Amino acid sequence: MEYKSVIIGAGLAGFTAAVYLARAGLQPLVIKGQSPSYHLTTTTEVEYFPGFLRGIDGPELLDNMFRQAEEFGAQVKIGDVYKVDLSSRPFRLWMEGWGEIQTQTLIIATGTTAKLLGIPGEREHLGLGVSTCAPCSAFFVRDKKVIVIGGGDSAMEEAIYLTNYASEIVVVNRSAQLRASLALQQRVRKLKKVKFLMNRMPVEIIPGDKGIAGLMVTNQETGQEERLEAEGIFVAIGSKPNTGFLVNHLPLDEQGYVLVKPGTTETDIPGVFACGDVQDRRYRQILNAIGSGCMAALDSQRFYQEI
Ligand code: NDP
Repeated sequence: MEYKSVIIGAGLAGFTAAVYLARAGLQPLVIKGQSPSYHLTTTTEVEYFPGFLRGIDGPELLDNMFRQAEEFGAQVKIGDVYKVDLSSRPFRLWMEGWGEIQTQTLIIATGTTAKLLGIPGEREHLGLGVSTCAPCSAFFVRDKKVIVIGGGDSAMEEAIYLTNYASEIVVVNRSAQLRASLALQQRVRKLKKVKFLMNRMPVEIIPGDKGIAGLMVTNQETGQEERLEAEGIFVAIGSKPNTGFLVNHLPLDEQGYVLVKPGTTETDIPGVFACGDVQDRRYRQILNAIGSGCMAALDSQRFYQEI
């Protein structure tokens, strides 16, 4: 089956592009991967969305965009793209469960996935005491002591979310300074349940009878190892772009972000565009994702009209 436009990725950027392209009559296909959209499903309350005085619920926003795109005529298929051929048009994609798909224009909006620490005990306890998503796992740490690892905006958001569930939250940061925005830091510092432990490098997850018992850290100032008790550990140390399937097909930077021409969503391959976090090393904000989704749709529409 050949499409005029295909969007890989069903997050804010992808659905924004879909709404624009569907309205322009390009009948886009949106390919939604098997795992949930990282940014918005882990950001429950978006309190800074301009124009929404009482904020807006992240998953609800995404769901509304999904429905809106479908109402305008976008088609959504679920499955992971595992192979691409971008050497000539129509571009060819292979998708689990759907086989080969061809398209004249392509938008990459696959976002990012949470990074892991890579320390002993982490991978085997994922979903069994270790999590990268508080809204997905908070229920299991009701009235328990938990640790959030990281000092960026993601870590602050995890801590805020967990206050409704856990009895105590310790934010463990490897350096002396938090990296999170001042606004979020101030919000978290007001929460009585949240404590901060700075200059602690995580070294090992301590297994428990059921799940985990805590975290071993190195105190960066004294060099001593310390044992921190916890029944849940939330790793929030940043994310990496979902571009494995594009390696050797599209220019990526050394961290795997798609390279676009400054001020546009154009990649090195005419007809292939990228938007959202997958091409944004610097800002990675909800509003930027939405804005770049709109740009990708306009760039792609213009390209289609000229071929
Ligand atoms: P960041 O890269 O901003 O922060 C990562 C944090 O994890 C840092 O504190 C870093 O420590 C720590 N870290 C990294 N690697 C390790 C490691 N191996 N062991 C221990 N600690 C580690 O990532 P975020 O996901 O927090 O944010 C990414 C982007 O997304 C930012 O631009 C942020 O503004 C944005 N964002 C915005 C939100 C919002 O506006 N509400 C919500 C979530 C994210 P160190 O500082 O020592 O390097």
